[in-house]
Amino acid sequence: MEMSSVLVVGSIALDTIENPHGKRENLLGGSATYVTVASGRSISVHVAGIIGDDFPPEGLEVFRQYSDDLSDLKQVSGKTFRWGGKYTEDMDTRETLFTELGVFSEYSPQISHTNKTVPIVFLANIHPALQLSIIEQMEGNPLIITDTMNLWIETTKNELLDVLNKTNILLINEGEAELLSGTNDIEKSAGKLQKLGPKTVVIKKGSSGAILFSGGEKISIGVYPVRKVIDTTGAGDAFGGGFISALASGGSFQDALINGSVLGSVCVEGFGIESLKKVNSGELLKRERFLRTCFFS
Ligand code: AMP
Repeated sequence: MEMSSVLVVGSIALDTIENPHGKRENLLGGSATYVTVASGRSISVHVAGIIGDDFPPEGLEVFRQYSDDLSDLKQVSGKTFRWGGKYTEDMDTRETLFTELGVFSEYSPQISHTNKTVPIVFLANIHPALQLSIIEQMEGNPLIITDTMNLWIETTKNELLDVLNKTNILLINEGEAELLSGTNDIEKSAGKLQKLGPKTVVIKKGSSGAILFSGGEKISIGVYPVRKVIDTTGAGDAFGGGFISALASGGSFQDALINGSVLGSVCVEGFGIESLKKVNSGELLKRERFLRTCFFS
């Protein structure tokens, strides 16, 4: 299969997570991190982002392991982005305890000459002004895949609309899709989002799976039944990483949904990126086969 490189931009964070299974502080997290770790085994990932001088060497080691090009990963003096979240007992909802942008507040990405021609750009969740700045620096009309969150829909909608206008594939969760489109009817919501720019819209529904709308086509997938959900942080981004790695390897939208679902299911089995790092290729293949048989045969 043909394989492309992907430029991934998004947050690189130190997370504090509280849920019924415990509390963890300063875990390596961030949208770009989850996307990179979920996709970096199978495709060539180039990372753009910023970290502070407090970033742990083990974190850098993870990026060295899962990416091929770190020339646009900047380390500057100051504090790494920090995010804290607290989950409810059933882990279905969470509240953001704090968001400290740190070095991201001054970040103005300058994409290197080689990264400007990467054919696929994954704009993981981050301020839309940064997403837009990356799009504007790219050459050669790359495929743009975008993720976002309620914060940006509520606070920087116009900039987000500019990003969406230039986006080919939008990944968004159900609640955010409703917030952005103004309707909770998923089909109508997808139609409205497609009118904002992206021809393809993937609505992620957490433990209920995901639905892809592309032109007039609709493909649904459910989830892999994991034994125990430990932490859902980053599952949407891990889904995105799995999705893009299948597409970049020449797979279909169906393959991308399956691989997204596989990586999402792995992510929730541990805190942070721990289970994504641990999983072996046999387990990934087993889950892929299960989802293919269960939803597409
Ligand atoms: P998810 O569970 O898929 O929403 O992703 C969680 C990750 O998103 C965490 O690792 C956070 O560090 C990161 N995150 C949370 N808030 C933001 C934000 N405002 N901008 C960028 N990344 C964020």
